[in-house]
Amino acid sequence: MMGERLNGALEAAIERATGRPARIACSAPVGGGCINDARRVELSDGRVYFVKSNSDPLPGMFEREAEGLAALAAVGAIRVPVPVCTGGGDGVTPFIVMEYIETGAHGPCFFEDFGRRFAELHKKSAGERFGFAHDNYLGNTPQENAWCDDWVEFWRERRFGFQLRLGRTRRQFDASLERLLVRLMDRLPEYIGQPDEPACLLHGDLWGGNYLSDSSGRPVLIDPAVYYGRREADLAMTLLFGGFDRRFYAAYQEVWPLADGSEARLDIYKLYHLLNHLNIFGGSYRSGCMAILSRYA
Ligand code: ADP
Repeated sequence: MMGERLNGALEAAIERATGRPARIACSAPVGGGCINDARRVELSDGRVYFVKSNSDPLPGMFEREAEGLAALAAVGAIRVPVPVCTGGGDGVTPFIVMEYIETGAHGPCFFEDFGRRFAELHKKSAGERFGFAHDNYLGNTPQENAWCDDWVEFWRERRFGFQLRLGRTRRQFDASLERLLVRLMDRLPEYIGQPDEPACLLHGDLWGGNYLSDSSGRPVLIDPAVYYGRREADLAMTLLFGGFDRRFYAAYQEVWPLADGSEARLDIYKLYHLLNHLNIFGGSYRSGCMAILSRYA
């Protein structure tokens, strides 16, 4: 059962956000999350919401999630759960309330549709600079998003530089890995300096656990770590654990083909996520990091 205080705070927050009285009729746990307590919450008037709560969240974690979902929703290319409100603090467990997505089997063209919409998300969201309005989280890892005009510098400082500092603090990076990473950071202009593509709104953490199929069999993005960056950084994450269905990539390329030489760039972007995994989970990710570092550093 959720605490009485949390229930009361949820009702008040939903009421404020939607302008309609809110009484919780029942709530049931939803499995599958890595970090938070997740629930399907039904109100007495039949409305249903998805609620995540965490008694000890990272600062602003749910506010950043709501902001990321709202930014993706605003592009209108691909469905995301509409965020409703966030709240908690002062003795109440922090929470986020969002649209509940009824899930269903993949439709027959699920991956074609997903790839096409993902390319449209990138294509329709061109921005001028790299970064985002706030820092946010990649799972539980802080992600620095201070705006930057230069992609190479952004990647060197806010992505590899951040992981390097984290690796030092957590003692996950040995001397040979660190040496190669520093060398690669110097060589970044050779690899990701070109092509001069615009900044796009990225999901930021799109692996197989961060999309759903809704009841019409269409893709839905969840759990974003958004920022404006070059789109191949988003595709690299999808490739990290063996890749999505090949139809996803074929459809993406039909809408917005990748420029020549994408293999090296995708590897460099994958490395950020592998370093992050090494920092979170330790040694088993070292060989993946070293394979990319030895090839490009
Ligand atoms: P965590 O932040 O703990 O990783 P997730 O956001 O991954 O939690 O959510 C946990 C599970 O709840 C997911 O695996 C997914 O199946 C389900 N889920 C996530 N968002 C929604 C939603 N808006 N509606 C319905 N189910 C959801």
